Amino acid sequence: MISQVIDERSIRRLHDLLDDASKIAVTCHQGPDGDAIGSSLAAMHVLTALGKDVKVIIPDPSLTQLRKLPGAKEIVDASRYPDFARKLLDDADLIICLDFNVPTRTGRLADAILSANAPKVMIDHHLDPGDFAAVTISHPEMAATCVLLFRVLCRLELFNFIDKAAAECLLAGILTDTGNLSYNVGDPELFTIVAELVRKGVDKEALTRRLFMTTSASSMRLNAYALLKKMELFADDHAALIVLSREELNRFHYSKGDTEGLVNKPLEIPGIVYSCFLREETDLIKVSMRSVGSFPVNAICADHFGGGGHLNAAGGEFYGSLDQCAELFRSILKDNSQKYKQHLNK
Ligand code: 5GP
Ligand code: MN
Repeated sequence: MISQVIDERSIRRLHDLLDDASKIAVTCHQGPDGDAIGSSLAAMHVLTALGKDVKVIIPDPSLTQLRKLPGAKEIVDASRYPDFARKLLDDADLIICLDFNVPTRTGRLADAILSANAPKVMIDHHLDPGDFAAVTISHPEMAATCVLLFRVLCRLELFNFIDKAAAECLLAGILTDTGNLSYNVGDPELFTIVAELVRKGVDKEALTRRLFMTTSASSMRLNAYALLKKMELFADDHAALIVLSREELNRFHYSKGDTEGLVNKPLEIPGIVYSCFLREETDLIKVSMRSVGSFPVNAICADHFGGGGHLNAAGGEFYGSLDQCAELFRSILKDNSQKYKQHLNK
């Protein structure tokens, strides 16, 4: 038995909204990761089994390793089919928003989500939930949206509708957001949930291999190059910085997802508390940060890079040159105002 954490009123309202809906649109944040895709596909499988007409709409493509999840081929990518995506949102009776806290996190889908008439349901684990949904189920203490969705489905008495396909999608999300059950695993009930998903027939070993232990030679070389030639360590400031330009990415035939996990590597070095990775994209610099302990990289991303995220995993964007962005990060880590440095000692 897992404990009840979601308030009864939200569950009842969600139950009623689901009862009234036949066409359901499920959507998630841009740059969808395993938790975003996993929760969306799991919702699709369960609600389809309930007889609903369900479409998953994503703002832009997911990583290639997620495209083998059951049902992934049915996903509508709004960057390829913008008009169809808008029509699906306009025609839906209910829009389920997974793994994001504010509509801007869906990028190009934000306007369509907000202007659609259908009531929205948010199920998410990011801090600071926005107020745009008829039902908001926000639990930042959950390791993944997939954990929260599993709990929601149990409370809706839909546990038996979680088939092997849905279970695999839920486990993919949990493994993604916990680094294959490495962090954010303080809640013992998380393992009860994982056990239930394995009991549904999911092959955890194969899933781990697909999600974390499969890479191309060029991606492996790019990551090796980044660590060997591009990792700057600021031992006194307990920080690390990796910067990759467009030219460097092109040299290693970069494709989306090739640097997934790179930002975590410097944290393996004793004494390094936070790590920043800057990747030059065509029109912006993508900022990615990770930390250990209580150092709040989400605060740095919110204060300086128009972003946010979790305490230990956050991101944002920078509009300017790669050098300017790197300089800004170096100035932040040298800033002695104590705003962030006070968290280094804990
Ligand atoms: P990643 O470094 O894997 O791109 O992102 C890590 C986490 O940071 C994400 O799960 C998300 O919570 C947050 N994040 C990443 N990019 C952004 C961004 O541009 N804006 C905000 N608000 N959060 C972001
Ligand atoms: Mn998540």
